[in-house]
Amino acid sequence: MDLQELQKIVCDAGIVGAGGAGFPTHVKFSDKVKQIVVNAAECEPLMMVDHHILEHHLQALVDTLNILIDSMGADEAIIGIKGKNMHLLDTKILASLEGTKVKVKEIPDIYPAGDEVVLTYETTGKIIPEGSIPVMVGVMVINVETVYNIHKALGGVPVTEKYITIGGDTKEDITVKAPVGMKISELLSVCGYGDLDGKAVVNGGPMMGKLVDLENDTVTKTTKGLLIFPETHSIIQRKRMPMSMTLKRASAACCNCHMCSDVCPRNLLGYDINVHKTLRAASHSEVQDTEAFLQSALCCGCGVCTVIGCQQMLDPQKISMEVKGLLGKHGLKRKNNKAPEKVRPERSSRLVSSSLLIDRLGIRKYVKPSVERRYIDFDPDTVYIELKQHVGAPAAALVKKGDKVSAGDVIAKTPDGSLGTTMHASINGTVSEVNDRFIIISK
Ligand code: SF4
Ligand code: SF4
Repeated sequence: MDLQELQKIVCDAGIVGAGGAGFPTHVKFSDKVKQIVVNAAECEPLMMVDHHILEHHLQALVDTLNILIDSMGADEAIIGIKGKNMHLLDTKILASLEGTKVKVKEIPDIYPAGDEVVLTYETTGKIIPEGSIPVMVGVMVINVETVYNIHKALGGVPVTEKYITIGGDTKEDITVKAPVGMKISELLSVCGYGDLDGKAVVNGGPMMGKLVDLENDTVTKTTKGLLIFPETHSIIQRKRMPMSMTLKRASAACCNCHMCSDVCPRNLLGYDINVHKTLRAASHSEVQDTEAFLQSALCCGCGVCTVIGCQQMLDPQKISMEVKGLLGKHGLKRKNNKAPEKVRPERSSRLVSSSLLIDRLGIRKYVKPSVERRYIDFDPDTVYIELKQHVGAPAAALVKKGDKVSAGDVIAKTPDGSLGTTMHASINGTVSEVNDRFIIISK
């Protein structure tokens, strides 16, 4: 298939990175890509969406990867999966890959194996230069569910549903498929978690996920997990702490030991990122140390510095991501980015195993032996389709109040020339409201 034709199909189907970032997928397609790396690491504890898709839809993934390889003129596609999860892959399909351009590569059971810089290194041996993107080394990184969404788009089906793991302090862990735009509170209630008294919900993994606003938050194309924890759990307490308090604690208690930087996965890959310096400069208002601030642009927000590195219970991850956000907002860029040629020699001894992470997070008791795929016929009366659930410009509504729509109809699109994607109705109904944030559709 012609590359432009593929890009149009993927853009029209509204496909964005389903792993959490939400980058419009069609923009990543390029004839400069030589290796397609499929992110099957699913490295955040308790998350099981990709596991389900790998187990049940491997042939569809392989067929789609072959189409991507042909369209981009790539040399190969590499599915990067942890050795402990190899049993999920159908052995007959695995055997059929022998000698083909679709390969499976076992990666170590470390966190954050799914960070695209770490994953690219673990699957190809290449280090993406600082401040750069995978295509600079001829690589495209794509999430498992995103590949599956491309498979569906090639069959004419746009993104109107999302696979989500529900777990944490729950009687069982389940993976469900829910309509985009459904209220998260309603989804949890239908799944038997309507009573959340004394509990809080995290959208995403325990390391990088965000607290859910149960009043307003809805399922988006990037909702991957809804994890329920007691309000008193340190994961919730840390996410709730205001930035002013996080900075005050850092300024009072940081001993400048730099253990946070020593375990930073991107530092270990050779990047000049020293989060202890960012934390010090931010918490002491040392604004003259511009490099300490600019280095946060290299941070992926993984949280290893906070959960594994800091023994003083400080939160360098939060401070680094806050600074990174401010840099982006003000268009400030680091100019002295370099391309590391090799990883730091101490890297192999400082890798963080998933097991250590689970213990440090205090969530061992929430790890269940299995996750069930549960078919639930979600039938919401109203959905709230966010106009911005992706990186780039918001989609502009193409419908107005009173319009009748069917599931799969295009209802919004980012204007041509801007980074963005297409939005579709996820239920049959009537548009009851269009505002700055949502298109609301009711039955
Ligand atoms: S969150 Fe911390 S450990 Fe992770 S990349 Fe950023 S500074 Fe490094
Ligand atoms: S590990 Fe904690 S105490 Fe040590 S430098 Fe980093 S933030 Fe400060």
